[in-house]
Amino acid sequence: MQLFTSLNNLQIFLNQEKSLGKTISFVPTMGALHSGHISLIQLAQKHADVSVCSIFVNPTQFNNPEDLIKYPRMLERDAYLLEKEDCDVLFVPRIDEIYPPDLDTSVNIELGGLDLVMEGEFRPGHFKGMLQVVNRLLDIVKADFLVMGQKDFQQFTLVQHMIQQLSLPVKLIIGETLRETDGLAMSSRNLRLTPEMREKAPIIFECLMQLKRDIGQKPIAEMCSKVWQLITEKGLKMEYLQVVDGIRLELLENPENHPFIVACIAVWAGDVRLIDNLILKGSLN
Ligand code: AMP
Repeated sequence: MQLFTSLNNLQIFLNQEKSLGKTISFVPTMGALHSGHISLIQLAQKHADVSVCSIFVNPTQFNNPEDLIKYPRMLERDAYLLEKEDCDVLFVPRIDEIYPPDLDTSVNIELGGLDLVMEGEFRPGHFKGMLQVVNRLLDIVKADFLVMGQKDFQQFTLVQHMIQQLSLPVKLIIGETLRETDGLAMSSRNLRLTPEMREKAPIIFECLMQLKRDIGQKPIAEMCSKVWQLITEKGLKMEYLQVVDGIRLELLENPENHPFIVACIAVWAGDVRLIDNLILKGSLN
């Protein structure tokens, strides 16, 4: 595996590879890698000749400064895991190369309200910062394939929207959510759960599965209030639960005539914020 911290050196290497006719796949991450990330690396390897992973804890997508400070950082371990997986390139950029003072990296596109619901409502500015860094990284890496996780459903919906709006020459590939054996979605934030909260957190996936069983059988409002109650009784704090159209992310009251329905949830487990989602009807493709 090649490790690059300099943008210039990365680009020299990737240009060489491209001149040999090789294709590039790219997995952007914020590090503290787990098996979910590794599954995306494997997907990237399936799609292209050269797999590139970036680790960059992007300050512009953190609306909560404390969350940014507390975000786990373990570069040596991450590099070891990627090397073991035969990832070709690890890019760990310096912040001044991602955001040079003389370069306007902001993304100004119409988001059609996709950024205002769910995560957008509770983490104002988060998606603006996320799109900014993904666009900047794509501009640097110039990948043929961008690989992201279904775990962040709204995130990839917005990235897909940006790719279309800006006509970016990249194809988005979505990897399924990897879970612990008890159903908890793998997340770098799980490391911060107390033992008590770690034990309680699988209720999130249990509730999503319950919603999947109930969709079409019960009114959505009733399904959601039951989940709200289960989560609260467990001692977790619900931030939102929304059953939405999987394309437009609009709230649904009635599942009929909607071929693609997703439940998205955000829950506080102590001071750790966890998100998850499950497709209740239809599929990604
Ligand atoms: P992050 O480092 O949290 O920004 O995540 C980097 C990428 O990994 C994103 O595309 C996430 O959606 C994806 N990801 C995070 N958790 C999982 C998981 N449990 N399974 C699969 N992909 C994931």
